[in-house]
Order: sequence, then C-alpha cells, then structure tokens
Amino acid sequence: MNAAHGIAPAEAALPFAEAIGQFRAAHAAAATFTVRNPATGARLADVPDLGRMEAGHAIDLARKAFTGWAARTAKERCALLRGWHRLILDRQEELARLLTLEQGKPLAEARAEILYGLTFIEWFAEEARRVYGDIIPTHAADKRLLVLKQPVGVVGAITPWNFPNAMVTRKVAPALAAGCTIVLKPAEETPLSAIALHALALEAGIPAGVVNLVTTSRPGDIGEVLTASHDVRKLSFTGSTEVGRLLMRQCADTIKKLSLELGGNAPFIVFDDADMDAAVAGAIAAKFRNSGQTCVSANRILVQSRVYAAFAERFRSAVATLEVGDGMAPGTGVGPLINAAAVDKVERLVRDAVARGAKIVQGGARHALGGNFYQPTVLTDVRPDMAITGQEIFGPVAPLMVFDTDREAIHLANDTRYGLVSYFYAQDMSRIWRVAEALECGIVVLNSATFSSEATPFGGVKESGIGREGSKYGLDEYVEIKYFCMGGLQG
Ligand code: NAP
Repeated sequence: MNAAHGIAPAEAALPFAEAIGQFRAAHAAAATFTVRNPATGARLADVPDLGRMEAGHAIDLARKAFTGWAARTAKERCALLRGWHRLILDRQEELARLLTLEQGKPLAEARAEILYGLTFIEWFAEEARRVYGDIIPTHAADKRLLVLKQPVGVVGAITPWNFPNAMVTRKVAPALAAGCTIVLKPAEETPLSAIALHALALEAGIPAGVVNLVTTSRPGDIGEVLTASHDVRKLSFTGSTEVGRLLMRQCADTIKKLSLELGGNAPFIVFDDADMDAAVAGAIAAKFRNSGQTCVSANRILVQSRVYAAFAERFRSAVATLEVGDGMAPGTGVGPLINAAAVDKVERLVRDAVARGAKIVQGGARHALGGNFYQPTVLTDVRPDMAITGQEIFGPVAPLMVFDTDREAIHLANDTRYGLVSYFYAQDMSRIWRVAEALECGIVVLNSATFSSEATPFGGVKESGIGREGSKYGLDEYVEIKYFCMGGLQG
C-alpha cells in the first residue's frame, strides 16, 4: 500500500489510481467493495461502501455549499464548468481506458462516450449564461410582473452502469450550471469513472461540497436517504423503470421535482421502400452498440413482409462478421455483458423465444470466450407473445418480426408500455410523416441509428420516463419558476 493514498500495488497501474486512493482515504473508516473488469473478472479497485450516515453527511455538505454556489454569477459558474471540461479533455484517453476496464465496452466506444459526456459540460456551461426570466405585460397599472428562474436547490442523482461517464456529466453539468449542488450515487459496477470525474471537478476549482459522491453497494439505503430528505429538492434518476417507479413513490412524501430517464423497448421498423444497405447498417449500430446494453438499443426489429427475407439474410451475414472480445483488444466490435446475471437473462429470453417458435439464424448461445460473453444473435419468426418483445433484452440479440401494413407496424411498435425511441427506415414522404406522428415515444429517428447530441432533447414518454436531458429544455429540470409581482408602484 502507498501509505499516503492507500493504493494497493495491483491498482497502481489503473488510470486515476491516485484519485481512487484519495477518495478511499477520505472515507477511511468505511468498509469497501470491489470493482471488477467484466471482460476478465479481474479485481480493479476497492471503493468505499458508504451508507445512510455518509449519504446524510453528503446532503449536509451540498446544502451548506448551495447558498454560495447559487450566489455566484452565471459567468463564474460557466468558467468553472469550462475548467472541468478542459481537464477531462486533457485526460480523455485515461478516462476512456478506465471506462472500458470497469464497463467492458470497446475502447473506441469508450472514447466516443467521453467526448459525448464532454458535450454536456460545454453546452450547459454556455446555457448557464442564458437562464433568462420574463417580464409579463401587467394586469394592473400599479404592478409590474416578472418571472425569475432560480436553482431548485440540492439535487440527488442516481446513474446506471451502461454509460458510467456521460450519464454523470448529463446530470452534474446542468445542475451546476443552474446553481444547484448535487449528491451523486453512481452505479455499483462502475463507480471509478465517477470518482475520476469528481476528482477533476475539484481540481478545476469547483468548490468542495458542490459535487458530492456516494459510492455504495447498498443502493436502496442511499435511495431512501436521498428521497426522504427535505433538503434534497430534486431527484434525477437514470436506470430501470422498476427502480424509477420505486423512487417516484419514495419522492411522493417530500413532493420532489423529478426527472426519470428509464428503460426502453425501441422498435426498429424497416418499410418496403427503405434503403436496404442503410437499414442493415443502422440495425447493426442500433442493436450491437455497447453489446445491446443501452436504453435506446433496437429491441424489436420489425420488417415489412415484401423485404423481410432479403433483409433477414443481409442482416444475419453482417452480424456474423462482428468480432467479440475484450474491449481493450483492437478490433473488438462487441464486448462482454456487464455481469453473469445479464448473460443469464439473455439466455432465458432466447430460450423462451425458441420454445415459442422463434428460429435462431445466427449465434444463439454463450460465446466460446466464456465469462460474460454472449454471441451476437439473430432470431427470426419472433411474435409479440414472446417475453423477448415485452422487455429490454439488454444484450446482443436481435429479434426479427414481420408485418404487412403500415397500420400493423405502428400498432406493433406502440404495443409496449415503454416509449423512449423509435427508429424507422422509409423513403415515401407521406408515410414518413404519418409514421413519425403516430409513434408513441420521446424520440423518433428516421433513416439513421445515431441521433443523440447535447443540443437535442433526450427523454421518453409512457413508462420510459419524465423530463428531458440536454438541449435548451435540459436546464428547466434544475430551475424553479418564481413569479414576482411588484405592487404599489406610483403612476
Ligand atoms: P438499475 O438497476 O435501475 O440501476 C440504476 C441505478 O439505480 C444504479 O445506480 C443502481 O445502483 C441504482 N439503484 C438500484 N436499486 C435502487 C434503489 N432501490 N434505490 C435507489 N437506487 C437504486 O438500472 P441499471 O441496470 O443500472 O441500468 C440499466 C437501465 O437503465 C436500463 O433499464 C436502461 O434502459 C436504463 N437507462 C436509461 C437511460 C435513459 O436515458 N432513458 C440511459 C441509460 C440507461 P446499483 O448499481 O448499486 O444497483
């Protein structure tokens, strides 16, 4: 052990080993839990296993820091966010490596995530300076009517493991820009990226207490403390619908402002006038990025009957070329799943689909690499009564379903309690408008598999969530509107 920072020899080679050691030293009294590499099972680091008491302490720190932070000018907050941005940019390669080590995604995807995460810091640093209020035409001669936008206060944030970096910046940056302070609980599988981001925020001069980090293996305890606290005025959660529902219930007692970015069940519709090459390439990207472990992964691929056979064969042969491996290995296109439970779930869904009549035309089993690896898989003859179409697969399995008419496609696409994103491929303008307007979701994507940016609103409808992240709407989630009526004015 390095006595100063408690860095064990095995950890020393890890990017941000010193920051991890410092964070652990700051919580020296706490027990620890181990973070492992999902590709190899190797132990990466031990991090503090914080509980209710430490979460309460973090809320206190955030409450105390709030007044000073909110009182800073927007320009000052903008400058500090820009400083954080610059430090992340300088160390992007280390952050990407750390991300792949703890999460498993191919290094190229990790690099892209760091850049994507950075865009939110840049965007909200700029937006901090544009939190304009209003002056409303008066209803009485002696009154003037104004609208002020003020920070909500202390924010609680809970993030998932599938984007350990970008889901953190997508919440922390707008909260800080608005003048809020924050208590962040990152996912248990991937706390190292959050520890690194936290260290860089402090290094950038963002005052202690403005961003507070609570790493834990007891998410329920921390969730209860955050939701029960009267000091926490807003909760922003990204994760499963199941946990989102629980947190929403818990927030009822203190009537918190709430943002929920939850699960999805994205339809990916290929109409018979689609550009087939583009549709195949899009389906590969929308399905296999992050090994299918994203809320916007194509979960059901619906193909019109006239082009079904041709699409299925072209898609299958493209899937057959995907290279599975450790995210650190050059050439890897599909990494491991996050843990053994995720592989079990995928296996169960494929087994159920096959028992109900689906056919495996590619993959369909655990990968020869063993551990958390699963073969990129294509299933045909999938029907709506199969479990695989009703829930997030969160794995590299593509179920193909057939439809005849546009009406049927829209019915199938909307036949889910989720409503995050829908993809479709088509050329005919009338069809495009009809379908885009009929799909029940927060995001519709035509003839593309990529769409997310800091400038556009991200979020779902139905059981996919409440609120939007990113874009000009993203800051609204962190401000309260105050109507200021100035009366008694002399004419
Ligand atoms: P999850 O199990 O809901 O976990 C998300 C976060 O909630 C983690 O930090 C987790 O901690 C924590 N958590 C678990 N139980 C909790 C409780 N009782 N109280 C408070 N916090 C609790 O989801 P996940 O498996 O990590 O992430 C995948 C899910 O996130 C998918 O459903 C995906 O679609 C969704 N997602 C949505 C978006 C979006 O923008 N809509 C983006 C990315 C992911 P632990 O890590 O300790 O379990």
